[in-house]
Amino acid sequence: MNLSGGVISVIGAGTMGNGIAHVFAQHGFKVTIVDVSLSQLDRALVTIGKNLDRMVAKEIIRKELKDETLANISIQSNLIEGVKNAELVVEAATENIELKLKIFEELDNYTPKSAILATNTSSISITKIAAVTNRANKVIGMHFMNPVPVMKLVEIINGYATDKEVTDTIVDLSKKLGKVPCVVNDYPGFIANRILMPMINEAICSLYEGVAGVEEIDTVMKLGMAHPMGPLQLADFIGLDVCLAILRVLHDGFGNPKYAPCPLLINMVTAGKLGVKSGEGFYVYTAGSKDFVVSKRFQ
Ligand code: NAD
Repeated sequence: MNLSGGVISVIGAGTMGNGIAHVFAQHGFKVTIVDVSLSQLDRALVTIGKNLDRMVAKEIIRKELKDETLANISIQSNLIEGVKNAELVVEAATENIELKLKIFEELDNYTPKSAILATNTSSISITKIAAVTNRANKVIGMHFMNPVPVMKLVEIINGYATDKEVTDTIVDLSKKLGKVPCVVNDYPGFIANRILMPMINEAICSLYEGVAGVEEIDTVMKLGMAHPMGPLQLADFIGLDVCLAILRVLHDGFGNPKYAPCPLLINMVTAGKLGVKSGEGFYVYTAGSKDFVVSKRFQ
């Protein structure tokens, strides 16, 4: 099965949605970004523009490619309008199972019957999402990494009923986007987050139990394990709400207490300290600046 140049609809204009739209558009695909929030749609266009400017300044892409990329993107707050001509949908809305099930029911109703429905979920069962549609064989996980324009991996997750030709199409497409696809099966957290989230949770528990401070924990993992970013800073970048949601899926899915989210993580999310996107998590971030400092709460 080959995509024939139809529209790619990206649902959700947040951290991941704008990156996914950027990468498709930069590789010549027509993209419609759909979000319930007009301000998020506007912000996504600004973010994509800034990211493209940075790529032009670093001579990663030509100036003309920036203009071509932006010309390939349109925005839409009405789901029906935004997906009616889609050949492929990549859903990247908030990590919430009820929300995703509702969106997939709607996608099944409003997209052409031949469309492939992919989800960028970090952890929710592809099989469960597929089950609310009448085309479980065309539902698949297409899990991009953050930041999407930079990170090479796409974890491709086969649901229980995903057709092989759908998997092959998404593998080929990922390669066309300059990414490296890795196909895995549908179990909680897949591979990336089944391994990453327990490490992040353990880092948060180490802080919670007073074993070490924020900088010490991150420095040990950066210098000791050659990680480019410490686990607490990485959690801030991913979003603490997203980390908590994934840990809950692992905890529920395996029924194993080793995945129980650290009480400190729960408290921080409850207090609205979500990391970079809210301006504060383990560190405090200032809009427009690359500098950040450890949050006063942990000094
Ligand atoms: P985000 O909170 O930055 O953005 C979510 C967006 O979804 C918001 O703009 C919100 O307005 C929109 N939305 C909510 N309900 C909607 C609806 N009914 N229709 C259309 N849009 C709707 O979240 P994010 O970090 O971009 O995560 C999106 C998805 O990507 C999640 O499934 C997450 O697990 C996954 N993911 C996140 C990361 C990461 O590092 N943040 C990495 C890989 C995968």
